[in-house]
Amino acid sequence: MGDRFPDIDWWCDRCGAYLNGQYGFSDRKRVWKCEECGHKNSISRDNIYESHEDFWGNDD
Ligand SMILES: [Zn+2]
Repeated sequence: MGDRFPDIDWWCDRCGAYLNGQYGFSDRKRVWKCEECGHKNSISRDNIYESHEDFWGNDD
């Protein structure tokens, strides 16, 4: 059993922490609780963006 999304970096939706680097992280979990802020991030295909900038840069 490998990762569900082998080439995907996951970032906290609230604080922007790098989730892949957090202790025990696995993208086989459906939800990951951020170690930094406690936000529960959903780990699913719906939450994959083309780039970090796509996610953060849509203010206007
Ligand atoms: Zn966080």
